[in-house]
Amino acid sequence: MGLLNRLVVGSAPLMPKFVIGRVASVYVAGDKLEDGLKLAKKLNSKGFTATLDLLGEEVNNRKETNKIRKAYCDLLDGIANYGIDCNISLKLTALGLKIDEELCWDNLSVVLDKAKEYNNFVRMDMEDSTVTDATIKMCKKGKNYYSNCGTVLQAYMRRTSDDIDILKSHNANIRLCKGAYKESPELAYQNYQEVRDNYMKNAEKIMDHGIFIGLATHDEWLINELEKLITKKQYKKSHYEFQALSGVPIDKTLERLIALGHKVRYYIPYGPEWYAYSMRRMKENPDIWKYTLKAFFFRSKHRN
Ligand SMILES: Cc1cc2nc3c(=O)[nH]c(=O)nc-3n(C[C@H](O)[C@H](O)[C@H](O)COP(=O)(O)OP(=O)(O)OC[C@H]3O[C@@H](n4cnc5c(N)ncnc54)[C@H](O)[C@@H]3O)c2cc1C
Repeated sequence: MGLLNRLVVGSAPLMPKFVIGRVASVYVAGDKLEDGLKLAKKLNSKGFTATLDLLGEEVNNRKETNKIRKAYCDLLDGIANYGIDCNISLKLTALGLKIDEELCWDNLSVVLDKAKEYNNFVRMDMEDSTVTDATIKMCKKGKNYYSNCGTVLQAYMRRTSDDIDILKSHNANIRLCKGAYKESPELAYQNYQEVRDNYMKNAEKIMDHGIFIGLATHDEWLINELEKLITKKQYKKSHYEFQALSGVPIDKTLERLIALGHKVRYYIPYGPEWYAYSMRRMKENPDIWKYTLKAFFFRSKHRN
């Protein structure tokens, strides 16, 4: 970590909460469910589809996991009541994955039951490498229970190609992203271009299997290469979408994708845990600071 990054990350906990709040507000819809629903509705009106994500991860207390399960069920009810084009993303560690897999399944199956009521889709985010196997296992179990769900694979992980093989038999729905956590060189590519190359290699492999792919990236180089790949493969519009984090200032690129007839989904985090979440993200990945400042000064107009 460079000196400047160390300084910024080290001093972040000393900054007043409102300063972190101003910065987090670039991405986070707000504290409340309604904040997330309203932003999803606004983005729908601009031609984007949406995913809502209740902030929070790794809960160590069984009762807390039940509260999060309820919050996700309320979110699915809210989406239906608002009549918006929006699905949900969740973190399995918030439903108890690190406490006990049975507990996590009990919680997840209740959320899947609720999603089934509305025929809505549930995405299981991918977290760090300590839970990759367990997340894939839970996704396979989820698919057998309610097929309208899927997970995420990370292009920085060396194992991702093998994970596609595991998931393909379950007709998975895969979001492909670069990966957001600090991983060791044994497990993950560290070089920027190597991660991009592995992204492209795995995107092509997913398309070769005819699996639905969520192309989650803000990297303009990757987006251009993916557009070429979609054309080369003549990949059906019903089998892919581009995905971006709400607040990242790539408005023009996303508008261009929509104008060309591609589907684009914004991922919208919300919830009272925004402070702990923001601090954790900044500590884990100091680059977030650089990105956040850029997003702060060059605001995405799509949220207005
Ligand atoms: C919809 C979605 C879902 C995701 N789900 C997961 C998940 O389940 N698991 C996981 O590990 N990771 C997830 N991620 C995060 C992902 O792994 C990357 O860490 C993140 O997207 C940055 O990678 P990038 O592809 O945008 O490329 P980068 O090379 O990191 O970024 C390319 C350019 O985009 C801009 N940019 C990128 N991020 C930001 C930002 N936050 N603010 C401002 N500008 C930015 C910068 O200009 C940067 O130069 C998700 C990302 C998206 C978009």
